Amino acid sequence: MADRYLSLTGTAPGRFLTRRLGLPQPAALHRWSPDRPALDGPVLHLTAGPSSLGLAPVLARTGLTVTTRRPEDTVGDPADGSARSAAVVLDATGVRDVDTLAGVHTALHPVVRSVAPSGRIVVLGAPLDPADHHQSAAQQALEGFTRSLGKEIGGGRTVNLVRLTDAGAAGSTLRFLLSPRSAYVSGQVIDVLAAAGSAPQADAPQADPGRPLAGRTALVTGAARGIGAAVAETLTRDGARVVVLDVPQAEQDARSLADRLGGTALTLDVTAADAGERIAAELPDGLDVLVHNAGVTRDRRLVNMPAERWSSVLDVNLASVLRTTDALLAKGTLRPGGRIVATASIAGLAGNAGQTNYGASKAGIVGLVRSLAPRALAEHGVTVNAVAPGFIETRMTAAIPLFLREAGRRMNSLAQGGLPVDVAETTAWLADPASGAVNGQVVRVCGQSLLGA
Ligand code: NAD
Repeated sequence: MADRYLSLTGTAPGRFLTRRLGLPQPAALHRWSPDRPALDGPVLHLTAGPSSLGLAPVLARTGLTVTTRRPEDTVGDPADGSARSAAVVLDATGVRDVDTLAGVHTALHPVVRSVAPSGRIVVLGAPLDPADHHQSAAQQALEGFTRSLGKEIGGGRTVNLVRLTDAGAAGSTLRFLLSPRSAYVSGQVIDVLAAAGSAPQADAPQADPGRPLAGRTALVTGAARGIGAAVAETLTRDGARVVVLDVPQAEQDARSLADRLGGTALTLDVTAADAGERIAAELPDGLDVLVHNAGVTRDRRLVNMPAERWSSVLDVNLASVLRTTDALLAKGTLRPGGRIVATASIAGLAGNAGQTNYGASKAGIVGLVRSLAPRALAEHGVTVNAVAPGFIETRMTAAIPLFLREAGRRMNSLAQGGLPVDVAETTAWLADPASGAVNGQVVRVCGQSLLGA
């Protein structure tokens, strides 16, 4: 179902009318395309407090022109009409107390107005030091700062916080956040803290930078349509050979997508007791990227929910994910350097009326990711992360009644629904061989939904 309001505000009279009525003003987001693969402008690199991060070579690899300003240089607004930044990276890793926290205001206050529409602000923070409550207070403050700025900045701009210790290990994350690929990711706090040594090919330049997944095999469940189909397409773009898995009833769509992508189709119900064994048998040479995307809703308030609606949702969305993950790790099908990306939902984080079954299943994914991630990395060299989509324009959300659907679309900082490709791009970043230091994260792709934000 097309977002007609977004089309309306894309026209001059529509913009005039909706502004006069005080209605939301969603911006047309700049998403990745072969013609416009990068942000349109330079990145401004600022620092608050002392830093020894060594960010310059990592920013150089974004391909953007970088202007670096030290705290003592920060004077006035660079928006003299000529130099609009497409992005600002603020290194706040050296912020240790309330005094040095003021450097965040000093650095960003003069430049925030000059960030171009659909631009990016990325704040870099340090892990909280349990032995220093002043440092912890100041670093935690960055989270409230980031989320608040994301809610007020507007114009399709995003604001995210990355906590890191090693700039090189965070290279793929910074390239993602400083690109049009992260158009619908805002208000997120991402920890890139896994030991760099455990990150295979941490940030080595790749033979074919446009195809980081070249030579890798990916399997996407529920890939015949919607978000899963977009994930399959995006992983193929990035060089992977993709297995499109879906239920037997969706065989035709699965096959035609697999044929178009040069991959293979596998028709299988993920709730089958032997699903893990059948996937392993299909992939005797192993698997590098496992995307648990298949999911269903069977909404009813708890008072009206028969046991079958509960168990079917829990089985598809959670139990089958646990079973197949266990089977594929135990059999060694997932190769070292592998990536598991599971699909949660903001309904699992914020809760949603009528979705006790679905919310429980998606919160379960968060628990699975957080618990398994350190062990899977230590024992198998495999990272485990989740994407948590907000309102994404698919058949699932087209089925929501009109007024609820319109509220779901607008109630986020970008005032619009996301597209399947937004979840796919986030999945591709987590699947990147260079993302080995991103582990145990739940990254919302929700335009900074106001629910549970
Ligand atoms: P969709 O209904 O359009 O597609 C889901 C796909 O999964 C379908 O092709 C379906 O056949 C397949 N599937 C369902 N049960 C299966 C099973 N037992 N075995 C194999 N395949 C199965 O849904 P979507 O909107 O693309 O959602 C994809 C994922 O994203 C789901 O996990 C969903 O819960 C999650 N999600 C979606 C949104 C949204 O706004 N669309 C929001 C949050 C989370």
